[in-house]
Amino acid sequence: MQLHLCTWLEVETYLQNSRGIILPIGSTEQHGPTGLIGTDAICAEVIAKGVGEATQALVGPPINVGMALHHTEFPGSMSLRPSTLILVIRDYLVSLARSGFRQFFFINGHGGNVATLKAAFSETYATIADLNLPEAEQTRCRLNNWYMNSPVYQLAKELYGKREGSHATPSEVAVTQFVYPEAIKEAPLSPEVASGHPIYGAANFRQHYPDGRMGSDPSLATPEHGKQLYEAAVESIAEDYQKFTQ
Ligand SMILES: [Zn+2]
Repeated sequence: MQLHLCTWLEVETYLQNSRGIILPIGSTEQHGPTGLIGTDAICAEVIAKGVGEATQALVGPPINVGMALHHTEFPGSMSLRPSTLILVIRDYLVSLARSGFRQFFFINGHGGNVATLKAAFSETYATIADLNLPEAEQTRCRLNNWYMNSPVYQLAKELYGKREGSHATPSEVAVTQFVYPEAIKEAPLSPEVASGHPIYGAANFRQHYPDGRMGSDPSLATPEHGKQLYEAAVESIAEDYQKFTQ
């Protein structure tokens, strides 16, 4: 069930049985010469939809622009500052908390969002407590990074080994190829790829990672791999959601 395809009456009925909601969060940033700018948002959204179907949970609107300041030296990348993203998440959750939601389950597609999400959760707990909403103490937020679920991680390791890398990875590119086979891109990829540099600012990032990849070989991606990774992610995350909302 997707929130934007429901009426308020349907949401009111849903809240009689569940106070949980799934929120996909991604990023809009460069993903190397062949990866789509929307990779992280596409992966989070499609997996969240699958988990929502598997668990009968409501899925909120995706947060498509995340914290990707270090990618902004590449054209098309967009970012919120951490301080802005904290407020966006807090405002989303406070609105939903006013409706009666208390369990917020984030499916995240971008490592750069993690620190900010955790800060936003603390901000949200404090704000909801100050508002004196009923059963404020039951408010809980959980972060599930889809690519970190053990079955997904294992599968990526089997399929790609070290060539998975850590950004513009074949596994995330494969999921987008499964979702949008019409948007599969080809470009020459140098066999040598940068890795291991710490992440600082945007100009420094582009200097050290000139084609945008971090240790990855996205030419290994196929839509069939994407389907397998998607299915592994949905199964594992659905289990986590059930435990979280029990
Ligand atoms: Zn990504």
